[in-house]
Amino acid sequence: MAKYSRVGEIFEELRNLKTEVKEMKTTLTEEDKQKYVKSGGAVCPYCGEWNVEGAFCETNEGFATQKMFCTECEKSWYDIYTLTAIQTEV
Ligand SMILES: [Zn+2]
Repeated sequence: MAKYSRVGEIFEELRNLKTEVKEMKTTLTEEDKQKYVKSGGAVCPYCGEWNVEGAFCETNEGFATQKMFCTECEKSWYDIYTLTAIQTEV
C-alpha cells in the first residue's frame, strides 16, 4: 500500500516539474528586464533561480558589461553597468 502511494508522489513530482519547465521563459519582455535590473540581478531573469555566474567585467568609458550565465537553465545574457559615482578615499 505504502509502495503505491510513493509512486503517486513521484508522478505528482513529475507533474510539478513539467509545469515548471513550461513556465520557463525563452525570451524576455521589457518588463522582465526591468524586474531583473530592479532586483539587482540577484536571480536568473529566465528561470528565477539563484545559480547565476558572472564572467569578467569589461569596462568602457562610462559603462561596463559583464556576461552572465545561469547554471540552472543554461541561458546567458549581458549585465550592463553605468558609472554613477566616484570615491576618492582609496
Ligand atoms: Zn536560469
